[in-house]
Amino acid sequence: MLDSLGRKINYMRISVTDRCNLRCVYCMPETGVDPVAHRDLLSYEEIIRLGGLFAGMGVSRIRLTGGEPLVRKNLDSLVRGLKSVEGIKHVFLTTNGILLPEQLPMLTEAGLDGVNISIDAVDKTLFKEITRFDGLDKVIYGIGTALSYPGLDVKLNCVPTEQNERQLVTMASMFVKNTALALRFIELMPVGHGKNNKGKSESEVRAMLETAFGPLTPLTPDSPGGPCRYYSLPGFVGRIGFISPMTHKFCAECNRIRLTSDGFLKTCLQYNKGVALKPLLGKSDGELKEIIARAVADKPACHNFIDTEDTRNDKHIMSQIGG
Ligand code: SAM
Repeated sequence: MLDSLGRKINYMRISVTDRCNLRCVYCMPETGVDPVAHRDLLSYEEIIRLGGLFAGMGVSRIRLTGGEPLVRKNLDSLVRGLKSVEGIKHVFLTTNGILLPEQLPMLTEAGLDGVNISIDAVDKTLFKEITRFDGLDKVIYGIGTALSYPGLDVKLNCVPTEQNERQLVTMASMFVKNTALALRFIELMPVGHGKNNKGKSESEVRAMLETAFGPLTPLTPDSPGGPCRYYSLPGFVGRIGFISPMTHKFCAECNRIRLTSDGFLKTCLQYNKGVALKPLLGKSDGELKEIIARAVADKPACHNFIDTEDTRNDKHIMSQIGG
């Protein structure tokens, strides 16, 4: 499926819930959000049907996210359903890792291909300050459990901010010095509660790492068109990655679309461009495909966070969009 600028859309992120068991300061208010009513969420059957339509139009990689996807019951049945859809080659998960150890056996059995685990601090007190939950030990255990599954693609995601900047060197040393793991730094975007926090740029993080460990050397990308650029550090077994939507825009190569927990097809993280699919599910597959194709054709050329801090995406906050 191509948009009007000729970008090939083959990757879809699906937020399965806006609920979360953490309250990261840049993502959710302490009291949580008014959750989407259960009847307004896409059911697993609806997601699998839409997955089939999108696969028929060229989407081959799906990432399940949230909120926290593992708080939605029986996620393994969704993974199994999506993996049985013709054309869907990979199903991945993005999670905070808290509930991973108990669910990974079912998820991998269902065919899960990989997991990205979000972790912003390795100091217990700071972790609790950022996530408002005393859960560092559980996340570390979740990471260890994920690494014990051969064949499961495991990566770590960290959002560098003024709050955790003193942790970044320690995290690199702890996770990637002696382990074949990727630690990716994602620049904070001014979306939802992210607007109230101060992120650290790629160049600031690079400087900290290079001062501590020596030069970062670029590595060949994992998948062409992916937004992450990977680097090695001298003597490190694992890799450092940068996903830098603020200082290294990758909109020209953007291959992704998003489905929010309430069934809105969002064609750009910043803008409300797209279409509410949930109310249209009574239509035939053919009609839905036409509606989807029109929405994708109209995908914005690029985000404009830096120039405009545009607030038109406020209809959905990050926990509904899924990061
Ligand atoms: N609960 C899951 C998790 O923690 O990974 C999935 C949802 S969470 C919204 C997905 C990712 O988005 C996390 O890595 C989180 O740190 C990141 N995120 C949230 N708000 C962000 C923002 N304003 N800018 C950049 N990343 C953000």
